[in-house]
Amino acid sequence: MPANERRFWICEHAHVMGEIKSIVVNGRTVRALMLYERSVYFNELPADIPELRGKVIGSMDAIRCTICGRTRDWIIGEDGMQALLSRVS
Ligand SMILES: [Zn+2]
Repeated sequence: MPANERRFWICEHAHVMGEIKSIVVNGRTVRALMLYERSVYFNELPADIPELRGKVIGSMDAIRCTICGRTRDWIIGEDGMQALLSRVS
């Protein structure tokens, strides 16, 4: 997969809630969710991405789509958990 390929995080109604990016934490590459301030339609992607609501590295429950109100959980992968644990220990 090319490094610059955008990986969207989408609700079940095909609204883009954010993007998945690889970031480095403590020398490990982990997945982070770059959460948009508001959802956008996947088939009408704006040229500029919306403002970011925040960056989620750990898990977060019930992130709400601002278009349809559906929620989705962001689950951190094992790699990310290891990186976070090594940061606090
Ligand atoms: Zn939605």
